[in-house]
Order: sequence, then structure tokens, then C-alpha cells
Amino acid sequence: MDRPQETDVLIVGGGPAGLSVASHLGDGISSVVVHQDREIGKPIRTSGGSWLTDAKALGLPSNLYTIIGKGRIFSGNEVAEIDLAGNPVIAFDVTALYRYLATLSDDKPCQKLTGTKFLSTTRQADGWFLSKLRSAGQGEWQIRSRYIVDASGWHMAVLSSLSLGQAPARTGVGYEIEYPIGNMDPDTAIIFFGADARAGYGWGLPAPGGMFRLGIGVLQPDTADNPRDRMNALLSSDRLARYGIEMPTPDHVNAGIIPSVPYDRRLVYGGVIRVGDSANMATPTLGEGIRLCIESGRHLGACLTRVLETGAAHHLKTYERMANRKYARNYRFGFLTNTRAAGYDEHDWDRTVRRIGRLDSDLLVQAFKSEFTPAMMARTVGKSLIRKIWPRQA
Ligand SMILES: Cc1cc2nc3c(=O)[nH]c(=O)nc-3n(C[C@H](O)[C@H](O)[C@H](O)COP(=O)(O)OP(=O)(O)OC[C@H]3O[C@@H](n4cnc5c(N)ncnc54)[C@H](O)[C@@H]3O)c2cc1C
Repeated sequence: MDRPQETDVLIVGGGPAGLSVASHLGDGISSVVVHQDREIGKPIRTSGGSWLTDAKALGLPSNLYTIIGKGRIFSGNEVAEIDLAGNPVIAFDVTALYRYLATLSDDKPCQKLTGTKFLSTTRQADGWFLSKLRSAGQGEWQIRSRYIVDASGWHMAVLSSLSLGQAPARTGVGYEIEYPIGNMDPDTAIIFFGADARAGYGWGLPAPGGMFRLGIGVLQPDTADNPRDRMNALLSSDRLARYGIEMPTPDHVNAGIIPSVPYDRRLVYGGVIRVGDSANMATPTLGEGIRLCIESGRHLGACLTRVLETGAAHHLKTYERMANRKYARNYRFGFLTNTRAAGYDEHDWDRTVRRIGRLDSDLLVQAFKSEFTPAMMARTVGKSLIRKIWPRQA
């Protein structure tokens, strides 16, 4: 491996956020992406669910996902059928998507170093950063950079190193089994709430390549349970049949962690900028982050380019302002619903799912996407929708 000694931008983390920053830096700007995993896109730490309209808007090729037109939402005693034809859900081939995102910077002066962990950084007298890295089999080495992007996900590796932040105190922890779809309906996604996933939710997602993803995520420390134990309890119960899910055949397991704390408006700390999960950009309602990481990563890449080309640091504030405009208010509502719903009992979920079944599917999708926008509020008279969906709210 060629170890660069200096770069304009050091990007820590080769997930969707970091790779998207790299792909949108200008052709004259050098960058180094350091990624502690041995490969881009593996191991898989996400479920890969998203929305067709967003994938199209981001220009993601259609061979990277499968499209799903129906949803079924369960509580202990209720079920709501959702027609998603107007807002199809998609499931990404996560490894293929991340590798595709990595190719988008192949024609730029960008080096992607896998098996390389960012350890720490210090700010030098000239304003540059000197960062310590460790590469598999090659030991520790150092690199100088003008800017550092923290795209390390929930680790918040760069901010932690500079004592500007720390790993989140509340997280969503997920465990998922991926196995052949067998006779299950490839056009129906499932969400289940209540006893099988208290303080969280479970999902069943038809996936590319004739696969199916069965997962459970829980919020810690709201519950002391871990999702693997919950999964084992589900598999030894008779409820899989109720959800229309076939017993997993041994295949592979995906597991991951996502922050679940209030959105923090500060994204820029001089030459250190955060994006993606390290900036808590995944939705507070379902914890969906991939499309948002790609979009904000690209925007940050473009803003950093303007800063480096013109020397005008205020372009980074444009990134921060636009992200705050997109997330701050929406996520305040979303986080409120997240914390309330984490305390729901079986009865609350039955009532909620009954109400979801009566909702217009466009509004439901917007709530799932944490898009509590003025337009949506105007359509629904805001709080009354939240009361309808989450009855103990407000
Ligand atoms: C169980 C689960 C299910 C999910 N399901 C969905 C879903 O269905 N749809 C969706 O859109 N989102 C989903 N998400 C959220 C989504 O996965 C995240 O929002 C997204 O992956 C965040 O991207 P990122 O690039 O910010 O961080 P990450 O994807 O976490 O990437 C950061 C990378 O940085 C690396 N790294 C960390 N520290 C260092 C270091 N010190 N040095 C070098 N590298 C480092 C990590 O190994 C990691 O690979 C899910 C999350 C979980 C946990």
C-alpha cells in the first residue's frame, strides 16, 4: 500500500457518507478515505431499505435495488395493510451499492485505504491536522491534512479524538438474518411492533438476489434486551407464521448500531466536519440513513470544494445551514415520537396500528421518513396527525 503523507481532505469512514464526500470533491482536490474494515461494503451493518423516488433522485442505478409495492404492519393483535404503489419501498444490495459509491471517486485524486484505522489527530500551529493511522500488517503512520471529515458513523472517531463529541449515549442496535425468500411474497415488506420488539421494531424485507432480511432493532438503554435474544425468542415462537415469514435457513447475519439521540445542529468545527451517522442524520422514526448520508455527503463534498478553491471558509456554513434546514425541525418531531413510542405497551401498539390502517399512505410514508415539513403539517394540521399515529403524543 502506498502511504500518502499529505492530502487536502482526510475522510474517516468508507460508508455511504464518506464515499459520497469523496465523489463530490473537485478534480483538483486530493483526498484520502480511511476505512477500518477490510473491504468496502462488508461486513453489512444495515438493512438497506429506502424509497424508489429518492434512489432515482440520487441517480442510483436500478440494478442496485429491488422494488416493493406493499407493506404490512403488525402489533400483537392488529394488522394494517399499506398500498405502497405510489411510494414504493426499495431494498438495496448493500455491498453492491457501497462499492458503486466508491467507484464514483475513481477518476479523482482520491485514495481509498481499507484495513486502515484512524487513531487520533492533533491540530498543528499552521492549522493543518496531523493524524495517526494504523494499517493492517503495516503498523502506525501519520498523515497531514487541511480538513478532516468525520464519517465514521456512531463511533464519532474524529470528534472523540479532539474531545469535540463522544459516541452517543443512546443507540439502536440491530440484528438481522438474510436468507433465501422461498415462498414468501417478494412484493411485501413487513414491520412488527410490540412484544417481539419492545422499545424498537422488527422488519421483514424482500431483498435483491431472491433473498429476505428478517431483523429486530432495539433502543438501548431504553431496554436492556439485546436484539439477538429477541430474534431467538421470535424464532422459537409461533408468531413467524402470523407475520407470513418462513423460518430462516442458516445463511448470514448482519448487525449494526445507529445513534438515537436528538439532532445536533453543530456540524462544522473549524477544519473538522461531520456527516452521516456521526452527525445523527438517520431518521429518528425508522432509523433510515443511507439516502440521507449520500445526499449530505455529496453536498459536503461540493461545499468543501468551494472552500478549497476559493479560500472562503463560509461555504462550510452553507453545508451546515442546509443540513439544519432539512433535519432540525423534522427530527425534533421525529425524536419526540421515537422516545414516546419506545415506552409503548401492547395496548398502545394495537391502537396505533389500527389508526395507521386508516391513514392515507402518502402521509404515513412522510411520517416514516420523518418529513414533518410545513407542507405536510398544512395538510394534516400537524399535531392531530401525530396524535392519530402516536396516541399518547402531545
Ligand atoms: C441494524 C440497522 C439497520 C438499518 N437499516 C437501515 C435501512 O433499512 N435503511 C437505511 O437507509 N438505513 C438503515 N440503517 C442506517 C444506516 O445504516 C446508516 O444511517 C448509514 O449506514 C450511516 O452511514 P455512514 O456512512 O454515516 O456510517 P457507516 O455506514 O457506519 O460507515 C462508517 C464506517 O466508518 C468506519 N469507521 C469507524 N471508525 C473508524 C475509524 N476509527 N477509522 C476508520 N474507519 C472507521 C466503520 O467501520 C464504518 O464502516 C440501519 C442501521 C442499523 C444499525
